[in-house]
Amino acid sequence: MATSKSASSGRFGVRYGRKIREKVSEIEKKSRSLYKCPYCNKIKVKRVFAGVWHCKSCSNKFTGKAYTPY
Ligand SMILES: [Zn+2]
Repeated sequence: MATSKSASSGRFGVRYGRKIREKVSEIEKKSRSLYKCPYCNKIKVKRVFAGVWHCKSCSNKFTGKAYTPY
């Protein structure tokens, strides 16, 4: 299937409607980016899965919101 969409929500194709897909790609972008660690203050925190975050620098694992750590 050929698609020119580069956003992460492109995999949905034309399903679910434009607004929804825009929202999904926005959330996925947020959930994939690195965040500042509340323990060591380094930008090394990555989402493990919804609500769980892990710092690559100090190896702390903590819970936060589903798509952003705080
Ligand atoms: Zn840390």
